[in-house]
Amino acid sequence: MSRRKRIYEGKVKVLYEGPEPGTLVQYFKDDATAFNARKRGVITGKGVLNNRISEYLMTRLGEIGVPTHFIRRLNMREQLVREVEIIPLEVVVRNVAAGTFAERFGLAEGTALPRSIIEYYYKNDELTSPMVSEEHITAFGWATPQDLDEIMSLALRINDFLSGLFLGVGIRLVDLKIEFGRLWNGDDMRIVLADEITPDSCRLWDIKTNEKLDKDRFRRDLGKVAEAYQEVARRLGIMPEAGPADLKGPTVMQ
Ligand code: 5GP
Repeated sequence: MSRRKRIYEGKVKVLYEGPEPGTLVQYFKDDATAFNARKRGVITGKGVLNNRISEYLMTRLGEIGVPTHFIRRLNMREQLVREVEIIPLEVVVRNVAAGTFAERFGLAEGTALPRSIIEYYYKNDELTSPMVSEEHITAFGWATPQDLDEIMSLALRINDFLSGLFLGVGIRLVDLKIEFGRLWNGDDMRIVLADEITPDSCRLWDIKTNEKLDKDRFRRDLGKVAEAYQEVARRLGIMPEAGPADLKGPTVMQ
């Protein structure tokens, strides 16, 4: 395998230069972090599953006209994506109270919200990604009011579509974190869904039992973490055919 230029290494993914200008290769690691990387671990096979799950969800979203950075999956752990200018916001959409939201408002986890609620966090590890308002976002120039209108409408569409998709396989989409980027074509700019949509970035609960099928199993030491990710892949019908043996995936030369 040829040596590729590493553009960026994050906590759970690596970005390499892509084969053509304007493309990147997104590599999914098995590493897991929580609480702003104060808790670290490895979930064997997670990268392979997340690559597949994000491919599946971004493809379905693309089919209903949501613009995404995803081009195609390359192998077990890598996908080809468009290079975008990342907007430094974590956009969280919540349907049910959980996590920091439940804590902040003194609500029991599992309380249904009157409507889907969007929150913005400034993507900055050193500052542990503080929650910000539209005022902060526009005043600091992270996004314009027009960008924010587009981000909000895309976020709600993504949340509605994925809520239905997961409901169809017996899973409640409690909340999700998404990121967006600017895709330039000459002077034209489009805002597109970027990063990933996986059990690392969503809360997914079994509809009948409320069993957690997401990264909270790792955050809260609930055990059976890899099994939960496999269950999500299985219900979506995308479990790698060869089963656990092929979850190791190829070794990438760096
Ligand atoms: P909370 O604010 O309740 O911790 O998280 C809300 C939602 O956003 C959850 O689905 C959680 O997984 C996701 N989320 C929040 N921060 C991060 C982050 O830094 N990385 C990832 N992957 N997801 C996050």
